[in-house]
Amino acid sequence: MIVKPKIRGFVCVTAHPKGCEARVRQEVEVAKAARKDGGPKNVLVIGASTGYGLSTRIAAAFGYDAATLGVFFERPSLKGKPASAGWYNSVAFEKVAAEAGLYAKSINGDAFSNEVKAQAIETIKQDLGQVDLVVYSLASPRRTDPETGETYKSCLKPIGESFTNRTLDTDKNEVAEVMIEPAEGDDVAHTIKVMGGEDWELWMQALNEAGVLAPGAKSVAYSYIGPECTWPVYTNGTIGAAKKDVERAAQAITSTYDCQAYVAVNKAVVTQASSAIPVVPLYISILFKIMKEKGTHEDCIEQMVRLLNERLYAADLQLDDEGRIRVDDWEMAPEVQAAVEKIWPEISTETLNQQADYVGYQQNFLALFGFGLPGVDYEEDVEVDLPLPSAS
Ligand code: NAD
Repeated sequence: MIVKPKIRGFVCVTAHPKGCEARVRQEVEVAKAARKDGGPKNVLVIGASTGYGLSTRIAAAFGYDAATLGVFFERPSLKGKPASAGWYNSVAFEKVAAEAGLYAKSINGDAFSNEVKAQAIETIKQDLGQVDLVVYSLASPRRTDPETGETYKSCLKPIGESFTNRTLDTDKNEVAEVMIEPAEGDDVAHTIKVMGGEDWELWMQALNEAGVLAPGAKSVAYSYIGPECTWPVYTNGTIGAAKKDVERAAQAITSTYDCQAYVAVNKAVVTQASSAIPVVPLYISILFKIMKEKGTHEDCIEQMVRLLNERLYAADLQLDDEGRIRVDDWEMAPEVQAAVEKIWPEISTETLNQQADYVGYQQNFLALFGFGLPGVDYEEDVEVDLPLPSAS
């Protein structure tokens, strides 16, 4: 079929298989160009199909020749409809890994469940023996507790009082105001249950008990801090509370197992998860313009190459006072933030393309779903029903 983008709010409900492959290949080239020795050998990536998880998988495989096992929750093609972008990314990743002679297998299922943990452990036992890096990169709106069967939903809300700020209405291409009501009832507790550190700890416990965690292994989960204009809805909001819990979990994992667990604070990038957060797309559009002008712009892959090469597997991890790895350092550079703060109150729908890189934002968003990639013929009839090579 001929696949075109179909955007509904902040998601695109279609994805292009060849475009996703082209994008994966672009990231592979970035990782290859930064090849190093002395990194991870056998890597488990939980949340491996899109965004930061996919890029970490690519950076480990093509930067260090690592064998990778990826876990994700994606939609295969059904009734002739395109699969999700993460499905095509993973099909492409396995294909490119096979071309390079690298081990790559994937598990498509609910990472929060006991079954998927058991399946991952079985695969590691059979194929790899042990893993020396565990990457935890889930972004999920809900989680079913495997013990109680209760389903929790996460939300993006300020805590204490409502929050009004500027945002980008990406349907109408307008700068608009958004008002978000504060968290109530169990909102904070439930967001911690979904996006906090509990499930990361359960993974590490299960891996350790099964003997598949290599002695002295490393593990990393991702967080975000960002500028003050996003703090009420992010860092000081429900999701920030969950991220604090991830920091707690990192310490607990490090003190319980023979494993160093870290939280890495990453830069704001366009992903399926970040495009759903109010205020953030406007901030990202402004940030992109400033960082591109300064020559410090990075996407997921550049961030993850820097995380592995210059932090996690470097002599000095450059931890901050709270013990976190920071690869958001270029985003948070005072001159970058001062430039954002100057533009933030001034920007309007009319000046969106002068004061921000909204074109870049939109291109980046479409590329998440495999659209707008150079060298891809979007008028061509393509096969949408692609199996995951490792599933056959
Ligand atoms: P993303 O939406 O691109 O990726 C989420 C991944 O989680 C996908 O692979 C998806 O398949 C997987 N997933 C979701 N629910 C699952 C489930 N139940 N079982 C198995 N897999 C599941 O998200 P992202 O933006 O790359 O976010 C990853 C992490 O990075 C998050 O912790 C996020 O807070 C953090 N982070 C993101 C940004 C940003 O700007 N996007 C910045 C800093 C930190």
